Amino acid sequence: MQIDLSGKNALVTASTAGIGLAIATGLAAAGANVIINGRHPDTVQKTVEKLRHQLHGASLQGAAADLSTAEGAAALIKAVPSVDILVNNAGIFGPKPFFDVDDAEWERYFQTNVMSGVRLSRHYMQGMLQRNWGRVVFISSESGLNIPADMIHYGFSKTAQISVARGLAKLAAGTGVTVNSVLPGPTLSDGFKDMVRETAEREGKSYEQIGKEFVMAHRSSSIIQRIATTEEVANMVVYVCSVQASATTGAALRVDGGVVDTI
Ligand code: NAD
Repeated sequence: MQIDLSGKNALVTASTAGIGLAIATGLAAAGANVIINGRHPDTVQKTVEKLRHQLHGASLQGAAADLSTAEGAAALIKAVPSVDILVNNAGIFGPKPFFDVDDAEWERYFQTNVMSGVRLSRHYMQGMLQRNWGRVVFISSESGLNIPADMIHYGFSKTAQISVARGLAKLAAGTGVTVNSVLPGPTLSDGFKDMVRETAEREGKSYEQIGKEFVMAHRSSSIIQRIATTEEVANMVVYVCSVQASATTGAALRVDGGVVDTI
């Protein structure tokens, strides 16, 4: 199968690092014109230049905006009025005891992880439906099905994304627009490295080793028994965004290494 996304405009939110960067790289390598987003204009510009250098001839643009607010989403929409592919990747995560998570923290997770994708889909899907072709992908998590007791505030936001994606897929019934959720398991992203940096430095271990120990201790149902790479997650997303994936919609697609114990 040859995935060719030439002529398609793709916006990947939060794509200056981690899973978002790997998705942006994969889509650009498949020929899409990719819009890189992050909060800081300098980081966005550096990422655009880095990818242009890495992928000769790739078509890339930058659009800085903080997607944890309605103003940020509006600014991004103003800068980039129309796309064919929207990957709602922006998201925050981290463990915290339920009894210590106050209302403001719940609101922050809801705004950043759920409303960012709601606002962008509300705008961009209208153009996709008019043109009768589009791809919307929500980067949820296995934590949206397998709610971690130490990250209930996060698990809730990831379940909400799956719900929104399923509803939007039905809204696009009978058209060439598909909407799906992709559910990664533990993935060696920059955010994951930040979360375990102190332990890695203190114990003098590689991130891969710490990742494996994290998986065995906290996601012991994992079948691959290791942390996934960002490229492994991106491969699934690039496929879902492809022309060939036209019969896959309304799905919650797991790239979780088998963590969710179901068939
Ligand atoms: P990351 O922390 O490595 O990268 C996040 C990127 O988001 C950075 O470029 C950062 O600048 C940007 N960002 C953060 N807040 C933003 C905002 N308000 N507006 C715009 N950009 C913002 O993250 P990651 O681990 O790659 O996670 C990406 C997505 O994947 C998230 O939705 C996360 O919930 C999901 N996910 C991650 C894992 C994992 O193990 N890493 C597992 C399952 C799901």
